[in-house]
Amino acid sequence: MESSATAARRPAAQPEPDDNPWHTSAACRSDEAGLFFAPSKEPTAARLAREEQAKRVCARCPVLIECREHALAQPEPYGVWGGLTAAERRVVLTRRRRRESEIRLPARIAG
Ligand code: SF4
Repeated sequence: MESSATAARRPAAQPEPDDNPWHTSAACRSDEAGLFFAPSKEPTAARLAREEQAKRVCARCPVLIECREHALAQPEPYGVWGGLTAAERRVVLTRRRRRESEIRLPARIAG
């Protein structure tokens, strides 16, 4: 389930006391259209269109990598971050965990 707020704003776009420097360069800093988080009960076709619009903003964002790594590290459960939807981030995290376990496997066999 996505955010229950209607056209919720990206939290990271709002200055916070412990704001990381990359936030200040975010292309979505003034997400007036509410592209990055789903309104409640958003139809699938509308969600897909909104996410594609958000990804186009991300594609020209100077802090895409920093944002993506932040969202993966948290992990951020909702919204488009770093050009990836929540489902896409889950896939990336699953692949990373699998790859890390494969890297550790020889050590377990040897040990
Ligand atoms: S990569 Fe996308 S979500 Fe992240 S700060 Fe930039 S525009 Fe916002």
